[in-house]
Amino acid sequence: MSKNNPELGREVNEYLDLKGINTPVTNLVAEDREVKIEKIADLTKQMLEVLGLDLRDDSLEETPMRVAKMYVDEIFSGLRYDTFPKCTTVENKFCNGDEFVLEKDITMYSDCEHHLRPIIGKAHIAYIPGEKVLGLSKLNRITQYFAQRPQVQERLTQQIAEAIAFITESDDVMVIVEAAHTCVSQRGIKDTNSSTSTACCLGKFGDHNSVLRREVIGSI
Ligand SMILES: [Zn+2]
Repeated sequence: MSKNNPELGREVNEYLDLKGINTPVTNLVAEDREVKIEKIADLTKQMLEVLGLDLRDDSLEETPMRVAKMYVDEIFSGLRYDTFPKCTTVENKFCNGDEFVLEKDITMYSDCEHHLRPIIGKAHIAYIPGEKVLGLSKLNRITQYFAQRPQVQERLTQQIAEAIAFITESDDVMVIVEAAHTCVSQRGIKDTNSSTSTACCLGKFGDHNSVLRREVIGSI
């Protein structure tokens, strides 16, 4: 049984397009994986040779292909519809009124789209289920899907929140992402201590003076 749902991936991405918060892409089709890998391997080889490396060395000769497969199948695999996770929901028999589900400290690895350097952090997700409840590990998988794109943290946070709102049909979703950017620690300003927090608060979590929002922040 497939762990992915390409049709849901298409619907969620179309919803994010409508909201104007999708990643700038020219296409998210899946069919050309092999072609992408070949092209990226070739271009990576060229880049490393321009930098002066000898790609005939046995330690380096497989690097372009390794990098290409890593980009397409792993760290940028969220640039396709068909890698979107299956998100089975169940009828909500558990939460009433303003009771929320909160999953904290979801491990998150992404890459910044300005420097293509890693962003390492965690996400905290709260939502008030309406008719539907989502399995907890699906919150991790949705986070991972959007993290596996070149990203800016603000947009990543919005994409996770709006995708969960779309899938669960809940108006009330809150996502906080806390992360360290290696483009800040490793280069440029070289600050190894700073981290960045971003929040997207929808529905009741976004109301002025929201008690629920304070409750979530107090719990993480
Ligand atoms: Zn950056």
